[in-house]
Amino acid sequence: MPWCEQCDLVLEDEEVDEEGGCPSCGGPLAEHRPSPWYFKFMVVATVIYLGYRAYQGITWVVHHAHLHL
Ligand SMILES: [Zn+2]
Repeated sequence: MPWCEQCDLVLEDEEVDEEGGCPSCGGPLAEHRPSPWYFKFMVVATVIYLGYRAYQGITWVVHHAHLHL
């Protein structure tokens, strides 16, 4: 599926102009949009990890607050 990097736009084959460029900016098209599933996966994994660490930190603080009160 053609993709315009400049417009961040995925195009249907019918939308591509005669020169094979982007219909909105006329720029060159890439054949495939790089789909960084691994990047999305890393973001999700990082969010989960940070959430887990935050949870650990909170339970640690709560636990130690109880010990010292
Ligand atoms: Zn474009």
